[in-house]
Amino acid sequence: MIHEVLPYARHGFRYNHYKFFLDDMFHTRVQRLSIETGFTCPNRDGSKGKGGCIYCNNLAFMPPYVLSGTLDDQIKNGIAYLKKRFKAEKFILYFQSYTNTYGPVAVLEKKIQQALENKEIIGISVSTRPDCLDMDVLAFLQDLSKNIPVNLEIGIESIYEKTLTWMNRCHSMKDTYQALSLLEKYSFDVTAHLILGSPTETREEMLAMTREINRWNLQFLKLHHLQVLKESPLGKIYQKNPFHLFLYEEYLDIITEFIARIKPDIIFQRLFAEAPRQYLIAPVWGKRTPEIVMDIQKTMREKNLWQADKR
Ligand code: SF4
Repeated sequence: MIHEVLPYARHGFRYNHYKFFLDDMFHTRVQRLSIETGFTCPNRDGSKGKGGCIYCNNLAFMPPYVLSGTLDDQIKNGIAYLKKRFKAEKFILYFQSYTNTYGPVAVLEKKIQQALENKEIIGISVSTRPDCLDMDVLAFLQDLSKNIPVNLEIGIESIYEKTLTWMNRCHSMKDTYQALSLLEKYSFDVTAHLILGSPTETREEMLAMTREINRWNLQFLKLHHLQVLKESPLGKIYQKNPFHLFLYEEYLDIITEFIARIKPDIIFQRLFAEAPRQYLIAPVWGKRTPEIVMDIQKTMREKNLWQADKR
């Protein structure tokens, strides 16, 4: 049976869950600690565009401790917060906000070296875009990965030019293919980040993205449903001209179909977006995170689906 080859599908999960990957790797409770260290993006600063991606409001995914100032303060306060909230023992430092490889590699290197003075940090995750990977930064991450686990997160978001244009990503699919092809040569882990639910795509087109994802040597996948956030360009567009966003049951249907089409060696780091209610315009599902996770499980059981069943 196919699920027997899913190494991190346990305790009722019918897909490879990142938590079990971390458990096996570190044998202790590990949480990702998000930080914001002053980068920007080429579609914000005018080098490629202005305004950023239309769905983006970085404040919506910054935990409270991120607003506490310096890198050292964010790490200290983040560790205290995650220890209290999740009883975490060790931490993966997550350069989450903006494009963290946009700029001289020395800037990122200095921040990482400073952070690694804290011995509770046992991994590094760096978030970026397909058009911001130069050889210097990749060589640095490769070197770093000899001493500590490194995860590069790359925002693909969609495989369709029409959607990338609609999103104001200001990069093309050619950039994405070049980046993924280049990354095949490196041994650190790579996450692909995708958004489901853009009004430019049909359900079939969204599910067809799985064929592309399965072609590449990716370790992790992060999926978000499209959320319309306050103080984002999309917020203004949506309030003028509302369009269809996933209803909760629709999303449960498509996310389970999506999982079932993904090859068995990919591990899911995330299956849906979680912007806090105060930032969210739509869709408002009124569900808490554990409830959504349980409903995805329930839907997979009801449809008798496992990851990779329909690959
Ligand atoms: S989604 Fe990422 S690349 Fe786009 S504007 Fe926001 S931080 Fe920049």
